[in-house]
This record gives sequence, structure tokens and C-alpha cells, in this order.
Amino acid sequence: MRVTVIGSGIVGASAAYHLSSRGADVVVVDADLEGQATAAGAGIVCPWVDHPEDDAWYALARSGARHYPELVEALGEDLGYERVGALLVAGDPAELEPVRALLARRHAEAPEMGEVTVVPDPARLFPPLAEGLTAIHVPGAARVDGRAVRDALLRAAVRQGAALRTGVATLTAGGEVLLSARGEVPLSAGDEALLSAGDAAGTSGAHPAPGGPGRADVAGGDGSWRQAAPLSGDDTGSRTGAWEREARGPAPEDPAGDGAPAETVATRESLATRETVATRETIAADMVVVAAGAWSGAVCRPLGVEVPVFPRRGQIVHAALDGVDTAGWPIVLPHVGPYLLGFPGSRVVVGATVEDVGFVPRVTMGGLEEVLRAGLRLAPGLAGATVTETRVGLRPVRAGGPPLLCRVGERVVLATGLSAYGLTAGPFAGLLAARLALGEPSPLDLAPYRLPS
Ligand SMILES: Cc1cc2nc3c(=O)[nH]c(=O)nc-3n(C[C@H](O)[C@H](O)[C@H](O)COP(=O)(O)OP(=O)(O)OC[C@H]3O[C@@H](n4cnc5c(N)ncnc54)[C@H](O)[C@@H]3O)c2cc1C
Repeated sequence: MRVTVIGSGIVGASAAYHLSSRGADVVVVDADLEGQATAAGAGIVCPWVDHPEDDAWYALARSGARHYPELVEALGEDLGYERVGALLVAGDPAELEPVRALLARRHAEAPEMGEVTVVPDPARLFPPLAEGLTAIHVPGAARVDGRAVRDALLRAAVRQGAALRTGVATLTAGGEVLLSARGEVPLSAGDEALLSAGDAAGTSGAHPAPGGPGRADVAGGDGSWRQAAPLSGDDTGSRTGAWEREARGPAPEDPAGDGAPAETVATRESLATRETVATRETIAADMVVVAAGAWSGAVCRPLGVEVPVFPRRGQIVHAALDGVDTAGWPIVLPHVGPYLLGFPGSRVVVGATVEDVGFVPRVTMGGLEEVLRAGLRLAPGLAGATVTETRVGLRPVRAGGPPLLCRVGERVVLATGLSAYGLTAGPFAGLLAARLALGEPSPLDLAPYRLPS
């Protein structure tokens, strides 16, 4: 079977890997748009602390975390994956009670989270932390390098015969894929409605988080300890200026902005050479997997369906603590505000903003200020760290529900909407998308992940 995969973020890369491992003839198309979420993701894998109100969301995220050890073994590469554990931190121990109760409820069905314990002095495990914090330790939590996972999956797919193409894909009403180096991904009135709903609320986190309410829920009486809660409690941090809203628009026709079709982004240079399209062409396929992240709505629009997915920007900072071994440090997750995690190479990651500003994948002064201010409040010991990199990505957020993993018509499979949990659930979601495309049974009941009728 010939399958075209649109999008080579973590979901599309995984779909391509699993499709090609099952003998499908796979072509992966990516437009290299600015703002790929996978390239910006922090890498936290700790699904048990969120979605208390949405069983489908939780089931997918939990299965995604469970899938990792098997994936690491199958790929046989360094994916930056390590079970370093997570510290849920708070100033007031009472604040931790709801999430502790949630973890206790879930433990029997998810023993992989490990034995949850109270840590009265979390700075012992993550030395830059502020004094006076208390924490719950979740030893089963892991961190992973999203770029490494994506690239390893794509490399393996290529070894199994998949072809990588660079260009903008559009679907026809019949589900044919048109590929163009100079195409355009148009936004519709539907996208604008979603975006302006966010603008009206005017703050980060204004849209409902997948499967649950938005900002009003930040206090988390339900026990949720979500990864993409807004950093600031006020209306200033992530607010977008009018000038920035004007800059919002369709995904760029010329992703590199240099008038020439881009070959690949730097991080993919090590991958097998991608073929770049010079003119518009049709890719013959029996099935198409749309894994185009926040852009999936635009890709599917010619099919006559509205995909309720919108972009939620995240800005994130990487820093180096020279001479310090940060590789084994646990993930630090406060209830609201910045999370912290360590990687090998003395690297510490602080993130991230939660901004509903449309397709504007830019690092802003306000965004950085918000991340750094909140990060240093939590971990003053990072003040002397060297800022090495900033990243920005557009999380594909499904408005008011779990991610989308479903057939659209006869020939298209949609796999998107993983929001703040795509590095956790993306590889597993790609496997499910591959099975859907090939008509194989799914290990998870996919009914909750259909498009609303
Ligand atoms: C700052 C930040 C921190 C995060 N931290 C975490 C975390 O700690 N843990 C976690 O689990 N998740 C995290 N996430 C979420 C996670 O990164 C995303 O959910 C996930 O990467 C989404 O993957 P995707 O493949 O669906 O989309 P993307 O990675 O966005 O990939 C979509 C791809 O589709 C391509 N595309 C779009 N339109 C077209 C077209 N018409 N033709 C061809 N190609 C097209 C784009 O170029 C892009 O490469 C974070 C996200 C951000 C932004």
C-alpha cells in the first residue's frame, strides 16, 4: 500500500516508521514550517498528573509513556530518554494533596509511575531550587529529547524504504496529495474564530485545555497538575500586542524566507537527503496520514471538514550550568508556572509560555521575560547559568476534547491535537495512525478520538 504522511513532527515520523516497518510504501512530506512543536518541546513524560476529568486523554497519554521503553529498545539510539523522576513542588504542602490523591487513585492501573513519596527538601535533588519548597516525588517520570526521537524515527523509516520530501502538501477534495515548494496553507474563517476567542480572553491559557476548562481551573482542585498552565497569574505575561496580531497569517509560502525552496532545517541535516520539489506535483497514494500539527485544519479543509485544532505558542529557554552534572536531575513541576528539567551536557531547560496568538512562532522579549522571571523565582540558583538557546513552537491544541485519531473519509487518517503532551504520546499516536491507515485493529478504543459529527 502507498501511504503519504503529511508532517514529520514526532507524530508523522512515528507513523512513517510504523507504516514502513509493516511494508507500506511511504512518502513523508514536510514543509519545514517555522514553529514545529516537536523541535521546541521540553521533553517531560509524566502523564499521571493531568486529565483527571478526561479518561480518553489520560488513556492516550499514559499509553504513550508506557510505549517509550519498547521504542527506545527498537530504535537502538540515544533518544535522551531517562527515567529521572519528577518533583511536584509547592510552597504549601496542602497544595499537593489533590494531586497526591489523584496519583494514589491511579497507581493500581499505572504502577509504572513508581512509589510516590514526599520529599521535604527538594533542593537536595535539584540544587538550584528555592528554599522552603516541599515536593512529591514521582519516580517513574522520564525526560526525552523530542528532536532525537523524531530524527531516529525518520532515519529508521528511511532505512525501511520511506522517502522524505520537502514541500507544502495540500489535499484535494478527493484526498489526493498535491505537493508544492511554493504552496500556501490558507487559514479559514474557522481558524480565525478559534484564534479570536483566545484574543478576547487576552491571556495565556485562555482556551480550554484539552478535555478541561482553562484558566479558571489553574488552582487544580481536581488534582490536575498540568504541563501547560500559564506562567503568570496576571494578564500581562503572554499577552500579544496588536502589532503581533497583525503579523498573524497563513503559514508562509516561503518557509525559509529566502525566495528559494528550503531543503531542510539544520537539525535534520544528518538525515537522509530530502528531495525538494521544484514544481507542483501529485503524489500517488492509497492512504494519506495528516500529522501536520497545528496546521492540520488547513491541510484537511479541502475535504470539507473543520478540524477543531489551533496553535498554542510555547517559548522555552535552554541554559548551561558549566561544570555541573545535570543529567540525572529530576523534572521539577510546580502547579502553575515554569517547569525545569536537566539533560546531559550541563543543560537545564526552563519553560514554557502558553500563548494563544495564532500562527506566530516567534521568540518575544515578553515571553522570555516571563519564563526567566518565573524560572528564577522557582530556582534562584540558575541565575548564573548561561543562556544557550531559545526555542518556540506551536502546540496543536484540540479545542475542548482529546486528541484526534480518526479516519476522515475513505483515504485520510488524521492524527493531531496532542497539545502539551505530544512528546509523551506522539510516538504511540503515530503507531495508532499507522494501524488505522492499514486497517489493523487498534490496541486502544479509538471512538473518543473521532472528529465531532
Ligand atoms: C514549548 C513546548 C514545550 C513542550 N513540552 C512538552 C513536554 O515536555 N512533553 C510533551 O509530551 N509534550 C510537550 N510539548 C508538546 C509537543 O511538543 C507537541 O504536542 C508535539 O510535538 C506535536 O507533534 P506533531 O507531530 O503533532 O506536530 P509538529 O511537531 O508541530 O509537526 C507538524 C509538522 O507538520 C508540518 N506541516 C504542516 N503543514 C504542512 C503542509 N501543508 N505540508 C507539509 N508539511 C506540513 C510542519 O512543518 C511540521 O513539521 C511541548 C510543546 C512546546 C511548543
